[in-house]
Amino acid sequence: MSEPHATGVLVYLCHDTPLSSAKKLIDIVRSEIAGQPEIDVLVAGEDSKKTRIEGLQHQGVVNKVLLLPSEDTQLAVASADALSQQAPNYRYLVAASGQHNQVTLSRVAAQHDVGMLSDVVAIRGEQFVRPMYAGNALACMTTSDPLIVMTLRVSAFDVEPQIGDKAASSEEMPLSLTSNGVASTKWLAHHLLESARPELGSAEIVVSGGRGFQQAEHFELLEALADKLGAAIGASRAAVDAGFISNDHQVGQTGKVIAPKLYIAIGISGAIQHVAGIKDAGVVIAINRDPDAAIFDVADVGYVGDLFDVLPQLIDGL
Ligand SMILES: Cc1cc2nc3c(=O)[nH]c(=O)nc-3n(C[C@H](O)[C@H](O)[C@H](O)COP(=O)(O)OP(=O)(O)OC[C@H]3O[C@@H](n4cnc5c(N)ncnc54)[C@H](O)[C@@H]3O)c2cc1C
Repeated sequence: MSEPHATGVLVYLCHDTPLSSAKKLIDIVRSEIAGQPEIDVLVAGEDSKKTRIEGLQHQGVVNKVLLLPSEDTQLAVASADALSQQAPNYRYLVAASGQHNQVTLSRVAAQHDVGMLSDVVAIRGEQFVRPMYAGNALACMTTSDPLIVMTLRVSAFDVEPQIGDKAASSEEMPLSLTSNGVASTKWLAHHLLESARPELGSAEIVVSGGRGFQQAEHFELLEALADKLGAAIGASRAAVDAGFISNDHQVGQTGKVIAPKLYIAIGISGAIQHVAGIKDAGVVIAINRDPDAAIFDVADVGYVGDLFDVLPQLIDGL
């Protein structure tokens, strides 16, 4: 493969990455990866040519924008195939933490026989820090692999927004689904749920409900509180498993890791796997009828009471 980008970074943005998140990821790469390498971006998805591309090009801190305008990129196997073809041109392949990116990049790493650095929360020169044991320990890692494949937990980094001075060029890439025997896999449809509420991953205020709500209908109380506060809605895994709300609201080790300024946990016990998702939250408020609930150990403000008494009063009072 060609030499020019052998020290550079390829940032992968999957289909539904908002422009603001894309910019933050690029800012992190630019400020944290040593040596100010050139940054190319690969944007996957049918509407990849629209606003996100223009926004990235005008930001002026990326060198080149590669376009993969295909809905097939919703399939990790297809995105990984396209990325794998590009990977030898780069030193780093980077994406934001998240299920699709995790599955996609780990495939690329396997195809190139290199390791995978998942959910990196800090970069210190040649060392990469990532949480382990549900966030209770931090592993500090180095790698001698020629290609460094990693996902970054964007919420863990605090970087200044950057604006460069050159417009990036863009280049369309054909996507072939015939390699690696994936021609039999077909993407049928993508239904995006529209919500007037802020997105869970980037919201400044999150109100979260747990099994204490007892049934799905009672989550209406949580929605009313979220509406009053302009908050996003989160949930514990127990609430998701019980069918109170869909699993894209799950906060925690196997859900979303979030960093709101204010997190309100209601009817949530505070299991370690849940708390792993709010390690970077600002103020944590907990409402639970059990004074010994573990959530009070991590809460800045705790209220012991029955949520069915407390929430109506809180909503009325706001
Ligand atoms: C590998 C693994 C990964 C996991 N990943 C996650 C994850 O990502 N996210 C996650 O959340 N969990 C995760 N879990 C599950 C986790 O261990 C807990 O089971 C889960 O968080 C419990 O959810 P909960 O607190 O809503 O339910 P419970 O543990 O049942 O707690 C309910 C709480 O509500 C309180 N309550 C009940 N009624 C009321 C009331 N009327 N008013 C006020 N309070 C009330 C109770 O006192 C209790 O504290 C994971 C588990 C494993 C093993």
